[in-house]
Amino acid sequence: MSRTETLTWIQDIVAETVFVDTHEHLVEESRRFSSRSDRLLPCDDWALLFRDYLQQDLDCAGMGAEDKRQFYDPEVSPLDKFKIVSPYWERVQHTGYAKTFSITIRELYGVKSFAIENIEQLASQYQDVRKPGLYERVLKEVCRISECHVNSLERIFMETAQPSLLRQDLSIMELSRCSLTDIKNVESELGVQIGSFDDWLAAIDLYFEKFGNKAVAVKYVGAYYRALNFGHVDRHVAEQQFTTLIAARPFIGSEGAQALEDYLFHYCLRKAQEYGLPVKLHTGYLATNDSMPLGRVRDNAVDVCLLLQTYPNIRFVLMHIGYPYQDEYLALCKQYSNAYVDLCWAWIINPDACVRFLTEFLVSVPAHKILTFGGDFIVAENIVGHSVIARRGIAESISALVDRRWIDRGAVPELVTRLMQLNANELFPKARAA
Ligand SMILES: [Zn+2]
Repeated sequence: MSRTETLTWIQDIVAETVFVDTHEHLVEESRRFSSRSDRLLPCDDWALLFRDYLQQDLDCAGMGAEDKRQFYDPEVSPLDKFKIVSPYWERVQHTGYAKTFSITIRELYGVKSFAIENIEQLASQYQDVRKPGLYERVLKEVCRISECHVNSLERIFMETAQPSLLRQDLSIMELSRCSLTDIKNVESELGVQIGSFDDWLAAIDLYFEKFGNKAVAVKYVGAYYRALNFGHVDRHVAEQQFTTLIAARPFIGSEGAQALEDYLFHYCLRKAQEYGLPVKLHTGYLATNDSMPLGRVRDNAVDVCLLLQTYPNIRFVLMHIGYPYQDEYLALCKQYSNAYVDLCWAWIINPDACVRFLTEFLVSVPAHKILTFGGDFIVAENIVGHSVIARRGIAESISALVDRRWIDRGAVPELVTRLMQLNANELFPKARAA
């Protein structure tokens, strides 16, 4: 077989294999059909597809606040939206985020390219596809995804209407951070009153009691605002900080907040361990503009060593391959038996880096320690483009190793199944009957 024939053969196997999608932020499907526009869903037309993450490239390419406001304004016409975005589109069109969009509109809507003559078709196709049954259609039929893990951005644990399709993470970020807003949200979600530190710990216990057996994993995204260097803090110190916090003296200072969170994070990890739940940690690149403290991001890999050592019985999923420090994550996964890495989101941040990463991973780390797909989207349609890029990347990585005769042709089908579904099925708890 020639190089091209090998690639085509592997691409066909990958295309036929069903993915387990280990990371999305999908809102409940019914929420897509309510007319209100808000922070998560600013509009309900094709511009919504730009929200994650293409908008960040547009921002980086100079799109200003007023252009952005108009672009997501439900009252602005499709043609005017195109005119607003096209100067920036011209600059970003070759990035992974933009390719995701181009592939999505082609595969899902039959729109050949993002061009002025296709805008009416794009506008009407968006509405045609956006109908009840959207998630089944996009995930199962178009993307060949059996189930996806959802980290709700609206609830600590989302009791979904589609539990077998949208398996849910239990978010421990709010439970660890414990700000006054978090306390208020927990009070309203659980219908409890929080007056003391014991009440807060009891609330954490209650989340695990109620949802620990339904959750697919716990998720912590605190790396957006802090280092992953969780100290071991005495209970009385944490309790003191908590008491200061709720005594309407909201400024306990960053040190006080960190001590409280350190204590609570460890408390949540012990609960996760008790329930046998893997712990997903955001590591690496941040979905922000003009604000990422790269030094702290770089230290994520160093900081998680202590967690991996402290909790040998917890399986940690290091998300987004810690990009752009992915080499360190190869070393972590090779060294620590409880370290797993997830390519979620990373395929579209830097598709070429991910192909190299997967090739290097396969020749250096046991193959069961990698999860190969998560779109990381609020808007389901975007999963189409992202999953195509991921499938392409997986095929390219493996075929490079087959060409070099590092991997035998005969081992390919089993390896593809392992990477795309078996690893997730082995690592995460099975869905329980409702
Ligand atoms: Zn995410």
